[in-house]
Amino acid sequence: MNSPRDVIIIGGGPAGYTAAIYTARANLHPLVFEGTQYGGALMQTTEVENFPGFVEGIQGPELMDTLRKQAERYGAELIARDVSTVDLGDEIKRVSTDDRQYTAKTVVLAMGSAYRALGMPNEKRLSGHGVSWCATCDGFFFRDQHIAVIGGGDSALEEAMFLTRFAASVTVIHRRDTLKASKIMQERAFANSKIRFLWNSVAEDVIGVEQVAGLVVRDTATDQLSTLRVTGVFIAIGHDPRNELVHGQVALDDAGYVLTEGRTSRTPVSGVFACGDLVDHTYRQAITAAGSGCSAALDVERYLAAAG
Ligand code: FAD
Repeated sequence: MNSPRDVIIIGGGPAGYTAAIYTARANLHPLVFEGTQYGGALMQTTEVENFPGFVEGIQGPELMDTLRKQAERYGAELIARDVSTVDLGDEIKRVSTDDRQYTAKTVVLAMGSAYRALGMPNEKRLSGHGVSWCATCDGFFFRDQHIAVIGGGDSALEEAMFLTRFAASVTVIHRRDTLKASKIMQERAFANSKIRFLWNSVAEDVIGVEQVAGLVVRDTATDQLSTLRVTGVFIAIGHDPRNELVHGQVALDDAGYVLTEGRTSRTPVSGVFACGDLVDHTYRQAITAAGSGCSAALDVERYLAAAG
């Protein structure tokens, strides 16, 4: 068997590539499993206007391609395959794809999180063309427009409140007649004159050719369909951290995010580090994911230096 690598990074999003750039420049020759969906969540979007350094904004896939090339330029080895199993408990970690096993002294987990989709027929097609999962990312594009937010928890109301800074109106669509969100968030939302609620309603489909032109809504009491004239649809029904690979091997919080120690990227398992949206249910931005990928790389360097 080959001698173990210094570091294996699992995930090819902003967190994984940033960890790769830093560990490559520290001469640790990282091996990065980018996944078959390399590039991560930003591959699904169009314009990214809030990643520092791009005055005019940049297309999501172009940004990811740039980070990828930067990691490669400094010597990261990239493999566009999914890791199927890991064994993290021993000093030397084992990471396997379907047909091969690799070993390393440290592993950085950067598998991201997946937003929950509603599964409406045209949802995917109009993603990035009026359908969004992130008000912080996309709210700015909806100045003076009418917007729908789907969901009834704290994050749906947070998205709705944020969107009122830009939008002409925000309609919150909720399948029940009471919200799951905390009392304080509810009070704030009810007091906001730009927000209205459509109760007992489920979204059936988004309509529009190149851009969202409306949302078909079904009243759950009467089964009647109506079309809401909106040009933006924000889906806020939650995210799922991609933790399947590490179930039972690292500690997870109640929502399934990988737990790290304090402000570091260290997990309680020696030599295993985690970063990006996999650990973060608060910020979930490309720049925060990249920042935590940097922390993970520096934590890896220190760990290896201490281990001699
Ligand atoms: P991800 O980007 O999700 O990357 C995770 C990677 O891990 C993927 O490549 C995946 O294939 C890989 N992976 C998972 N499991 C395995 C496995 N078993 N083996 C190998 N690889 C694996 N943020 C902004 O700052 N600005 C924006 O404008 C913006 N717009 C967005 C638009 C959309 C539609 C979405 C969905 C998100 C947007 N975000 C935006 C949020 C941003 O994309 C995320 O916060 C960021 O991508 C998280 O980075 P990450 O590296 O943690 O995870």
